[in-house]
Amino acid sequence: MAIPQTLSAKPRVLIVGGGYVGLTTAQLLQKKVKAAGGIVTVVDPMPYMTYQPFLPEVVGGHIEARHAVVSHRRHLKDSEIITGKVTAVDHDGRTATVELSQGETVELPYQDIIMSAGATTKTFPIEGLAEHGIGLKTIEEALTLRNHVLERIEAASVMTDEKAKSRALTFTVVGGGFAGIETVAEMEDIIRAAVGANPRISQTDVRILMVEAMGRVMPEVTEDQAVGVVEHLRGRGIEVLLNTSLGSVVDGEMRLVNMKDKSEADRFESDTLVWTAGVAANVVAKNSGFPVDPRGRVTGTATLQIADEDGKVLQNAWTAGDISAIPDLSGGGLPDGTCVPNAQHASRQAKVLAKNLLAASYGQGQLSEYKHDSLGAVAGLGMFQGVGNPLKVKINGFPAWMAHRGYHALAIPTVERKIRVIGGWVNELVLGRDYTPVRDLENPYGQFQEAAGGVKKKEAAKG
Ligand SMILES: Cc1cc2nc3c(=O)[nH]c(=O)nc-3n(C[C@H](O)[C@H](O)[C@H](O)COP(=O)(O)OP(=O)(O)OC[C@H]3O[C@@H](n4cnc5c(N)ncnc54)[C@H](O)[C@@H]3O)c2cc1C
Repeated sequence: MAIPQTLSAKPRVLIVGGGYVGLTTAQLLQKKVKAAGGIVTVVDPMPYMTYQPFLPEVVGGHIEARHAVVSHRRHLKDSEIITGKVTAVDHDGRTATVELSQGETVELPYQDIIMSAGATTKTFPIEGLAEHGIGLKTIEEALTLRNHVLERIEAASVMTDEKAKSRALTFTVVGGGFAGIETVAEMEDIIRAAVGANPRISQTDVRILMVEAMGRVMPEVTEDQAVGVVEHLRGRGIEVLLNTSLGSVVDGEMRLVNMKDKSEADRFESDTLVWTAGVAANVVAKNSGFPVDPRGRVTGTATLQIADEDGKVLQNAWTAGDISAIPDLSGGGLPDGTCVPNAQHASRQAKVLAKNLLAASYGQGQLSEYKHDSLGAVAGLGMFQGVGNPLKVKINGFPAWMAHRGYHALAIPTVERKIRVIGGWVNELVLGRDYTPVRDLENPYGQFQEAAGGVKKKEAAKG
């Protein structure tokens, strides 16, 4: 298959996924590779990098959805941007199969490849989960969740059927890790604000549940802080159910199971099910033919080179971030000795990867190993609330919230995005909370079709 003339014929550094790792490595490599006569190509189904730590704040409405993503086109001017999905890799032949956004497939030759397609939401075979669950990995999910929650409140306020009203006002989040806790806290915050502004419903009509299968939440913070988080959330009226999992969700009826004795823990109806119970390496890891570990992650060395299980390095093949299993030389990390999947590692690995690729393939500098001691973690729990242990100092409440905002304002890539995000925060402090849902995003043509006599757009286009 010939490469389309619109794509570069120069020796290519192919970056599979333009998230934390992909965007950062592209930024660091693009000018140097260009100067050496090559091209950096970023392939991603999305035309932007999503700053995932801000997704809960998008749900809460503190950050405008567009501001939590970083445009590839705008910030990677010396790179080739391809909106598409890598579906397979032939590393011996140095080509990758790319499904372009309009469905066409091309075989893209490369000199070096960086596997950085991140992770997807981990799910389990739970009846009804696929139909009823909402994940929180993408900006589209965060925006949809926000609109859904606010729309349910508005709808409930005119319902006369008490059962339907209770179902609309019951919100369930499964998964008590960082993402789940931040999300349930932001949801509670915005729900209380929206309900408070609606005289037809009361706060006592609302039920919010956080369901966690383990005996504690947030493995990233200390045990006593995790206990403090649970107490804090319960103090805000959130029902935190530990050692509990989702058994099934059929027609909106959730069945919760006690993990200790497998008995039924609760059964209720809820229109909202948010699923944040962990992540799994992107499936392109397995489909690429590169060596993967039992968790499906591409195996790599501390130099961020892809290597087989005997540690034999594959030339011109690199990996980092959530898709990879990289040894954690600091001695922390997962029980198998690899780095935990988080942004702290992803962004720092990206810098070492870019330097090492220049050293190995362009003779610029020396290979070095990735080693990073964790800086701790801070979580935002809604307006003015937070928890964390940055640099091993335990903080809670307002200082933690400030630390969370300060850290992420510095960490989101590009000055332009920092200004937009901080500007939004200032606007909110001055102008107050925005709890307006944007309606009809799933059927934006509805009004026009009604006005046009019910003719569907596609049918009209066919003539
Ligand atoms: C809600 C939430 C909150 C979080 N909060 C924090 C936090 O506070 N602190 C922290 O350290 N970490 C946090 N994380 C984790 C952090 O965001 C990830 O660890 C980080 O994004 C990993 O970076 P990555 O580059 O490996 O993957 P990603 O940033 O996920 O990027 C992967 C990219 O690959 C693209 N892609 C997928 N499939 C393909 C394909 N087939 N071909 C080409 N491209 C593909 C995707 O579109 C995406 O752009 C959070 C995550 C979530 C979901």
